[in-house]
Amino acid sequence: MSKLTPNDPSLRSWVDTANLAGSDFPIQNLPFGIFSTPQLRTPRAGVAIGDQVLDLSVLESVGLLTPAAHRVFDQTTLNDFIALGKNTWQRVREQVSLLLRADEAHLRDNASLRARALIPLQQVTMHLPVKVGGYTDFYSSKEHATNVGSMFRDPANALLPNWLHLPVGYNGRASSVVVSGTDIRRPVGQVKPPTADVPSFARCTKLDFELETAFIVGADTALGEPVSVDRAESLIFGMVLLNDWSARDIQQWEYVPLGPFNAKSFATSISPWIVTMGALEPFRVPGPVQDPPPLPYLAQSGARSFNISLSVDLQPQEAREATTICRTNYRAMYWSMAQQLAHHTVSGCNVSVGDLMASGTISGSTPDSCGSLLELAWNGQRPLTLADGKTQRSFLEDGDLVTMRGWCQGDTYRIGFGAVQGRVLAANHQRF
Ligand code: MN
Repeated sequence: MSKLTPNDPSLRSWVDTANLAGSDFPIQNLPFGIFSTPQLRTPRAGVAIGDQVLDLSVLESVGLLTPAAHRVFDQTTLNDFIALGKNTWQRVREQVSLLLRADEAHLRDNASLRARALIPLQQVTMHLPVKVGGYTDFYSSKEHATNVGSMFRDPANALLPNWLHLPVGYNGRASSVVVSGTDIRRPVGQVKPPTADVPSFARCTKLDFELETAFIVGADTALGEPVSVDRAESLIFGMVLLNDWSARDIQQWEYVPLGPFNAKSFATSISPWIVTMGALEPFRVPGPVQDPPPLPYLAQSGARSFNISLSVDLQPQEAREATTICRTNYRAMYWSMAQQLAHHTVSGCNVSVGDLMASGTISGSTPDSCGSLLELAWNGQRPLTLADGKTQRSFLEDGDLVTMRGWCQGDTYRIGFGAVQGRVLAANHQRF
């Protein structure tokens, strides 16, 4: 047995497609998800490898993986596995890596077990990977906060006074978090255009996406016991892509003074594969310099961000091809995940396994690196022209398909997040 760690760039898998350049799921990745198949409709845990899913419940049933005294991989969510803690996540990752290694014969040469345990990704249905007890959305991109502040308030004072001192966030709605592929119904609600004296009830006409990442909390904490910024990362299981669908017209009327409510709570989509912090470790980078320095409870030493490339594709229902309308990177996010978790719990608020904590819209400093249509088309003032040269978009239309992708590009492999995708359905007019 070789001593190579799961992140070693020289590792190869006997699953050939995992070794292809550009594969989202090389042996160095091993993201966890929940899937089902037409043959076995009960959701269970798997790891993506190349163009296959490795069924962890099968490996657990034959004793090749024993993370706990009780079965965890035949559960319909990953919560029980995640609750076992960081040492167990790492041990299972090492065991799965070893089983899939090109020079390891145990599973490679066991044709009947392999036939049960490996299923083509094309044949599986993905489900929400965790039961989400709480969902929090931060607002940690300085560029995004500056853009929105310029548009809706005052370009000269775009950042509100608190922004550089704490990671601004709000408690979102966990019940409407959905897995990639779920259709999104255009919301209806109260709107009041600036030109109107009174609000009206209408379908949202400023439907938008927000390109975000999110982390999955990996431990239950006690009420009244804050998580220190230095300990915070050890309580994070991994990351997903997140689309925080947003109704800008509803948002602009309702958000004062307590923040977003119906404009955000109708749906939030996440990618199905949780990329572990272990797989992301080689892609750690310094975050931007924080000036003024944060208060001591938020002060973090060392590289606190990650180099994650991100993109957004938009494809109208009738369009032959998608248009990539945004390319950006997570690395410039001002507040780190550790700072977000430390701030979230400093009051004594407890968190739970499976809680979802989103980054906030990820925008870069160039016009094509903004993570929302609101910014890309500057609130309708500069509509985007799509790949056919004539279709324009300021906000999402019915039938539009939004696809977000993320990946960490290494020299010899990439850690892919896969995609989070959703199509816009027409508003339900029966309600009014
Ligand atoms: Mn958001």
